[in-house]
Amino acid sequence: MEKSLNFIEEIIEEDLKSGKHSTVHTRFPPEPNGYLHIGHAKSICLNFGLAKKYNGLTNLRLDDTNPTTEDTEYVDSIKNDIRWLGFSWDDREFYASDYFETLYEYAVKLIKKGKAYVCDLTAEEMAQQRGTVTAAGKESPYRNRSIDENLDLFSRMRKGEFPDGAKVLRAKIDMAHSNMLFRDPVLYRILHSHHHRTENNWCIYPMYDFAHGQSDSIEKITHSICTLEFEVHRPLYDWFIKELEIYAPQQIEFARLNLTYTVMSKRKLLRLVQEKLVTSWDDPRMPTICGMRRRGYTPAAIRHFAEMIGIAKRDNIIDVTLLEHCVREDLNKITPRVMAVLNPLKVIIDNYPDNFVEELDAVNNPEDETMGKRKVPFSKILYIEKEDFMENPPKKYYRLSVGKEVRLRYGYLITCTSFLKDEKGEVIEVHCTYDPETRGGTTPDGRKVQATIHWVSVQHSLPAEIRLYDRLFCKENPEETDEGKDFISNLNPNSLKILRNCFVEPSLKNAKPEEHFQFERIGYFCVDSDSKTENLIFNRTVALKDSWTKEATKQ
Ligand code: ATP
Ligand code: MG
Repeated sequence: MEKSLNFIEEIIEEDLKSGKHSTVHTRFPPEPNGYLHIGHAKSICLNFGLAKKYNGLTNLRLDDTNPTTEDTEYVDSIKNDIRWLGFSWDDREFYASDYFETLYEYAVKLIKKGKAYVCDLTAEEMAQQRGTVTAAGKESPYRNRSIDENLDLFSRMRKGEFPDGAKVLRAKIDMAHSNMLFRDPVLYRILHSHHHRTENNWCIYPMYDFAHGQSDSIEKITHSICTLEFEVHRPLYDWFIKELEIYAPQQIEFARLNLTYTVMSKRKLLRLVQEKLVTSWDDPRMPTICGMRRRGYTPAAIRHFAEMIGIAKRDNIIDVTLLEHCVREDLNKITPRVMAVLNPLKVIIDNYPDNFVEELDAVNNPEDETMGKRKVPFSKILYIEKEDFMENPPKKYYRLSVGKEVRLRYGYLITCTSFLKDEKGEVIEVHCTYDPETRGGTTPDGRKVQATIHWVSVQHSLPAEIRLYDRLFCKENPEETDEGKDFISNLNPNSLKILRNCFVEPSLKNAKPEEHFQFERIGYFCVDSDSKTENLIFNRTVALKDSWTKEATKQ
């Protein structure tokens, strides 16, 4: 079925049809003051996706106009994350700071047109004089400085003659304008601060509104796509372009992505890192792209998610289970199945020969025949999950208990005969007999068993640490807090559970970081970046159960 166009595609197709544009050129403009998150991924998929669809181009532009919060560490991580998501900006890697000289000239042009002035009011005074939505603001006493005086002062601002905050350059528009952003907005501020690229060349820096649209214009961006909060900025964006008489890109706004059970602002994510509430930006509980990557989410799943949620003109909040659904769907197709035991309980098969090992055939992925089969060693002593045995089973419990028969995955049918407890009363060993006629799990007499359980051979298994992740926050909307508290108070104290006594099958010996597996009956797991052959660590990506499809199909 042909998908209908979204509203941005409609605009683009109209522009191509009318001849307003002959090509599509978008950009992704992150500020390098933090790591990218799933919201950025949405914007990346949108910008790069549109260019791809219409045979156009997408620039990467680092919006680096705030030297105090920005860093090359962030630039590098941003580039890494975009590449990992599967997109390329080729050689079009730009920086707003590349345009500082041009932006300065643009400011001079506005001064010469009588549309900008140097103002000595302090930030507080300016805020006081700005007025309110219902009351006009007051004009600055410096508003009517002559063009020559403004040119002189502005060049001396650049030369570093004034301390931070002593002066600003403001646009001269209208202190009574109904759009507060038009009340003589600040264009440049003084900041004697080292910049990660321009170093100490500048001590004045342009404000976002004076840098963003102009950067779009310099790069000949056709459609400048941003989130809704910039809708009120659009008239100002257009005003600068018009006054500067430069190429006019079109700004189009869409609703930012919000997800349940997480926060997305970089400022808040930075706080989680700085206060050590998570281990790092790539903590698998973080909604960052690198966190999701470490957790085991795939680029294909994230791209599919972005596509599935589409774009909206109104703010909304997306259920995180939809993202998990996309992850599961992708992993189901691509991951090899393996056996791992998270809470081990020893099973001894009394009638199985001692010191004997069989290699059993196991299917790597029932969804994909081409992934083939592997051998799994089977022997007399196995580990199974503690939960797969019960001393006093309730009625509908079909797994092991004394007298019950179950199937070992890819192996034999075994029947429990007895068990052993330690002094604390905990079951520590289960004894069984096996039926040699049932190799591979088939029954020659056609008898049925209700349960199939997974296992590993004790002498062949590898020890592993397994990290189980849950939602980072307890509340759908972590911003909803009790009086006087903030989002931190909604952190989920059980978001990470580490299991250190787990065993995995020997085929995982050389599993490398970022490799994905399905642990049969348990969930999808991914090798952690700190994992080593002698110290295997797996992160649970998602459990097997998909609560989203359940919700979605329940009517
Ligand atoms: P944050 O508020 O998380 O710090 P930001 O908007 O300040 O994000 P930028 O680095 O300025 O972060 O964003 C780069 C691009 O990503 C912008 O075009 C922005 O609109 C877009 N973007 C940021 N957050 C989201 C989101 N949640 N959903 C969709 N797009 C987003
Ligand atoms: Mg921003």
